[in-house]
Amino acid sequence: MNIILLGPPGAGKGTQARVLVEERNMVQLSTGDMLREAKDSGTEMGQKVAAVMARGELVTDEIVIGLIREKLETTKAEGFIFDGFPRTLKQADALADLLKDMGQTLDKVVELRVEDEALVKRITARSTCGNCGEVYNDITKPIPADGKCEKCGNTAFKRRADDNEESLKKRLMEYYKQTSPLIGYYYALRVHSRVDGLGEIDAIKSSIAEKLDA
Ligand code: AMP
Repeated sequence: MNIILLGPPGAGKGTQARVLVEERNMVQLSTGDMLREAKDSGTEMGQKVAAVMARGELVTDEIVIGLIREKLETTKAEGFIFDGFPRTLKQADALADLLKDMGQTLDKVVELRVEDEALVKRITARSTCGNCGEVYNDITKPIPADGKCEKCGNTAFKRRADDNEESLKKRLMEYYKQTSPLIGYYYALRVHSRVDGLGEIDAIKSSIAEKLDA
């Protein structure tokens, strides 16, 4: 089964993708993670996209489609979770072509719905484990008192350069302008479903499972 988790920044796509990886043996393909890796390892492409990402703008379709193509060609999986991709109609068309070429289908698109006010609160409080990527939140899921990641025991945590109010405003605008039209696109293809993304991680996980298993 191949699925897309769709939603604005901070909706919980990454968190829920990690749950699905653990429970369903699927592979998470996050273009945001791939771009951050390229940036951190200092590749030419990584340097090119760093400023664009920090401003909260979208990286070109060509770059992200290229990243996804390469991963799909080199990764064996029972199913892929697309997290943060596609973000434009052009990317959505490209994904359809790539899956078709592989003899595969896009089975479900789960939209995580969270209102803006909650997104701002979540994102400005967010940090992740520098080793395993476990997501923490200063208010709802603080880093354990012993300073160790609950998943891997690592003690270094990071905050994203674009997790600030100014970049977030731009990221939200990009979402509504460029990505939210995909809701209609996937609705028309009869693969879209919507889940309330506000609440406990476990409750949201169950709502997603219900949609996937329907
Ligand atoms: P994310 O981790 O998904 O929030 O992505 C972080 C940033 O990476 C975004 O604000 C964009 O600058 C860039 N990015 C990630 N995925 C895409 C995509 N599919 N298309 C364009 N830009 C992307």
